[in-house]
Amino acid sequence: MGASYGIKFWGTRGLISSPRKDTAIYGGNTTCMQIVYKDHLIIVDTGFGACNLGEKLMQQILTHQAKLQIHIFYTHFHWDHIQGLPFFHPIYFPSTTLNIYSPLPVNVAHQNLDQLFDGSYSPFSGLSSMASTININEFSKAVMLDGLMVSFCPVDHANKDENAHCFALKFQAPTGESIVIATDHEARDNKKNEDLINFAKGATILVHDAQFTPAEYSSRQGWGHSTMQSALKNGIAAQAERVLLTHHHPHRSDEEITRTLHEFKEIAEFKSISFDFAKELAHYEAVRNNIKRTA
Ligand SMILES: [Zn+2]
Ligand SMILES: [Zn+2]
Repeated sequence: MGASYGIKFWGTRGLISSPRKDTAIYGGNTTCMQIVYKDHLIIVDTGFGACNLGEKLMQQILTHQAKLQIHIFYTHFHWDHIQGLPFFHPIYFPSTTLNIYSPLPVNVAHQNLDQLFDGSYSPFSGLSSMASTININEFSKAVMLDGLMVSFCPVDHANKDENAHCFALKFQAPTGESIVIATDHEARDNKKNEDLINFAKGATILVHDAQFTPAEYSSRQGWGHSTMQSALKNGIAAQAERVLLTHHHPHRSDEEITRTLHEFKEIAEFKSISFDFAKELAHYEAVRNNIKRTA
C-alpha cells in the first residue's frame, strides 16, 4: 500500500539552488514536488530537487526492473523549474515513459526542454536522444489520472506576453481532498489573483509562492513573486485548510524562516489559518481538517 494522498517536496527553493549549512532544514534545491497518489508517479516541475527523486526511482529500475510511467506537470519553463531534468536519471532508461504536460504548445515545450540537452551545454544531442519515451502534451483541458482530476489556472508571473502562461495546478482526489500549487505567482489586487483565489477555494492544501518579505517586495513589484504575508492572505481568502509557503528566496536562512514562522503565529490575522513553510523531503498528507506532516 502506498503512502496516503499528499504532497512531498523534493525542492523548495526559488531562482537558484542554495545548498548551505543554513538552508539544510528548509532545503537548498530548486522547485520539484511529488503528488503522492496511490502508486502513481506524478511530479510538478523538475528543478534540481528532481535529482534526488530520480535517485530514489532508480532503485525501482535497477532492483526491480520496474517500467516507470511518470507524469510531469510543468507550471512554466523558467530555469528553476526545469534545470533538474538532465539529472533525473530515469530519463536515460528505455523502460521509462515520461508523460509531460505543458502550459505552452508542444513545439514550444519541446524547444524549451530540448536546449537542456543541447550538445553545446551537455554531452547529449537533444531531448530526442534520450533512451526513454517522452510524450509532450499541451495541458489545455483538465485530465483524469485514475480518478485524480488535474486542472489549471493561469497565474500572474511577470508573463512576457499573454500567451506565456504560468499555471497554478489543482489535484483533486476522488474523495474530495485537493492540493493546489501556485509556486510562482504575484499576489496583488488584480483579476488573475481573484481567479487564483476562486480556483483554490476550499483547498485542503494550498502551496503558495512566498519568496519575498514586504521590504524586498517594495522594490520588486511586477517580478512575479509574492510576499509571505500576501500568500497567507490569499490562503485565507480561498478558505484553504492549510497553506504551505514555498519558493524560498535563495538568501533566506533556516533561522530566518523559523523566526518568521513564530512571528506569524502571533499575528491575529493569521490565527484563522493553518500554515507552514515547506521543507524539502517533507511529506504533507492531505487530510481534510487534519493535515499531518510526516518525515
Ligand atoms: Zn520559480
Ligand atoms: Zn518562474
